[in-house]
Amino acid sequence: MDNIIAKDKEYVANTYGRFPVQIVSGKGSYVYDESGKKYIDMGSGIGVTAFGISDDEWVKAVTDQLQKVQHMSNLYYTEPCADLAEILCKRTGMKKVFFGNSGAEANECAIKVARKYAQDKKGKDYYNVITLVNSFHGRTITTLAATGQDHFHELFTPLTEGFLYAEANNLDSVKELVKNNKVAGILIECVQGEGGVLPLTKDFVKGVEELCHEEDIVFMIDEVQTGNGRTGKLYAYQNFDVNPDVVSTAKGLAGGLPMGACLLGEKVKDVYGPGDHGSTFGGNPVCAAGAINIINRIDDELLKEVNCKSEYIFKSLEGAKGVKSVSGLGLMIGIETEKPAKEIVQECIKRGVLPLTAKTKVRLLPALNISDEALVEAITVLKEVIGE
Ligand SMILES: *Cc1c(COP(=O)(O)O)cnc(C)c1O
Repeated sequence: MDNIIAKDKEYVANTYGRFPVQIVSGKGSYVYDESGKKYIDMGSGIGVTAFGISDDEWVKAVTDQLQKVQHMSNLYYTEPCADLAEILCKRTGMKKVFFGNSGAEANECAIKVARKYAQDKKGKDYYNVITLVNSFHGRTITTLAATGQDHFHELFTPLTEGFLYAEANNLDSVKELVKNNKVAGILIECVQGEGGVLPLTKDFVKGVEELCHEEDIVFMIDEVQTGNGRTGKLYAYQNFDVNPDVVSTAKGLAGGLPMGACLLGEKVKDVYGPGDHGSTFGGNPVCAAGAINIINRIDDELLKEVNCKSEYIFKSLEGAKGVKSVSGLGLMIGIETEKPAKEIVQECIKRGVLPLTAKTKVRLLPALNISDEALVEAITVLKEVIGE
């Protein structure tokens, strides 16, 4: 363990503040360190391992594909990629899908679609994209620019031009920007994840949709974290009764393999032509096979379970000693505590539970199929630690 920490510190780029835990294996919502100590995983790799670690059905889907063909260039057709795109469209009403490898790449695709749509229709100077203050959209130079938090910007200026930031849940602030600028698109997270697990209000999301409709602006929802069953619907926007033009997603999509997707609605489905955009690994058949398995298992029954577990977490923690507030949707939950969140996480780790943080909050993103037993145990430990 000390050896691994030293090696990592010497050879891996120093971009992560890691906890001193080395995970070597796992099953479902349990993971094990090199000494055999067991932990309950309440972060699922930041909402990635949707059905837990090394899930049998998912492993079979992935390894079956691995033995057929692990990669083919996008010069040719492969079945998993086409099947997955069809499944995503049929489940959402979106019309076409572009596949990439990450959340940032999915958002890059979304932003490029909005710009090309506006450029084709209104002219080259309609390039601005409105995002929200306190949002998070990724780490590339352009998605950093889209991210509405100054501290992410400081080290890397100049960033991509043409991003404007409106206040969340303040429709007038969005309208003001639209009135005074030439706007191509608006990109929002229905629940701000990295920003502190803050759901937007339904009125605001519907207001943004209406405004986009009136002004012929591309309405984009970043579902990188909220997507794929996380909030109790397949995509979070389905809780808000809206129909976006573009949905970007990644994290949980392929259950633990790198895959991002940008879903295109009727308005923008034909914006891209051959050569306009691309990604070498995009639509990789192994990732797509994993994603088909995941998306097909996010059915009504599973989503009902997600909502039940969510209710259990809210009920257990709201009003508990040391808890100031609980926010979120489905199994995406933020807990404002009296003690600093990082201290709580450190103590939980000692006691065999792995939660996350988001800004000043403790954040929970457990596997969608976490067992009742594991969930109750983890929440019991967490409640103890928060209340001490
Ligand atoms: C994690 C996240 C991203 C970035 O995803 P990567 O896969 O790390 O590029 C973008 N948007 C949201 C809302 C996220 O939570």
